[in-house]
Amino acid sequence: AAGRLRGAQESVREELMQLALEVNPVNLSAETPDFVAPEFITKALSEAVTGPNILLNQYTRGYGHPRLVNALSKLYSKLLGHELDPFKEILVTVGAYGALHCAIMALINPGDEVIIIEPFFECYVHITKMAGGIPVFVPLLKNKTKDSISSADWVLDPKEVASKFTNKTKMIIINTPHYPLGKVFTCSELDMVAEFCKKHNVICVMDETYEWLVFKSSEHIRMATLPGMWELTITIGSAGKTFNLTGWKEAIGIGLEIEIERKETPDSYLQDRVERLELKRDCMAKCLSSVGMTPVIPEGGYFIVADFSKLGAKISLNLDEEQGAKDYQFAKWLYRNEKLQVFPFSIFYCVEHKHLGEDFVCFCFVKYEKAEQVFSELKKSLN
Ligand code: PMP
Repeated sequence: AAGRLRGAQESVREELMQLALEVNPVNLSAETPDFVAPEFITKALSEAVTGPNILLNQYTRGYGHPRLVNALSKLYSKLLGHELDPFKEILVTVGAYGALHCAIMALINPGDEVIIIEPFFECYVHITKMAGGIPVFVPLLKNKTKDSISSADWVLDPKEVASKFTNKTKMIIINTPHYPLGKVFTCSELDMVAEFCKKHNVICVMDETYEWLVFKSSEHIRMATLPGMWELTITIGSAGKTFNLTGWKEAIGIGLEIEIERKETPDSYLQDRVERLELKRDCMAKCLSSVGMTPVIPEGGYFIVADFSKLGAKISLNLDEEQGAKDYQFAKWLYRNEKLQVFPFSIFYCVEHKHLGEDFVCFCFVKYEKAEQVFSELKKSLN
């Protein structure tokens, strides 16, 4: 394993998950509510995957689909009292777990200290260590003056917190509502943490995965709304927890089972797809040749790289070294003049080797039907 995993321990959670698969107990441990996902959400999924807009099944903006980030911005701008820029201040990740990973990996350098409150969701510690950071623990203290009957009796002790903030502290992770205690951090506890964060310029990662599960007697306070904390807070939520869909990965398993049964029969989806794609590959290669490019016939995948250097003077493109690699400029020309979206090939090379890719652009031939028309237009503009 990589050095950064040295000292990593087996996950007890995963070990018990395996045991559960073997003995099939009544599951009262993990987040498997017996209420189903709400119908308006399953309907939205069904429409997204079977509806007329086939693009919804495909890659989108890497930081989050525009419709999703716009909806998040609308909702959270109100909750946070701050107008959120959907394209700059919101990031969609694979689960809250993915967000924790991104936040810690992006901000923690080896030797940086991360304050983690006990009891904690184990991955805070694992990811911190993977980043080379040092977890520093602050236990919630159980109020000893009476028999504890509420999660509110587990409190954050200001003295304990104060003793852990040092000039090495880079981050504190707060989980409210808390897993597994169910504690909802109070305004005074969060205020106290906020003061330390501001004083030491420390980022506060708020794991608010259970934000929509706060019972009547308590109020969910968002750290980002406290004075001076907007700039220092990363707020994390979870769609899986919000809509009870933590298991939506399952469909792929079912799909694979079906495909395994019909593998090497005429009904095989994967076999049929590759045969249809080979035809598209050959058609795309013809299109590229017809406009004067030289395609590199691929043996696999669904991309085709083409050398456009022979077009030379034909393209009304004022190649200017200052403007970046040739292929990058050609790609932009195709976007603007031909409304054709392609990738420049030099992006697949390091800065020193970019020139090796400069004569090529990269096409995807899955969308061949549309391409045929585009290429006939392109041929016209090149003549
Ligand atoms: N944070 C906490 C406190 C959690 O309990 C969980 C799920 N157990 C997560 C994050 C991860 O959430 P997701 O399923 O969205 O990755």
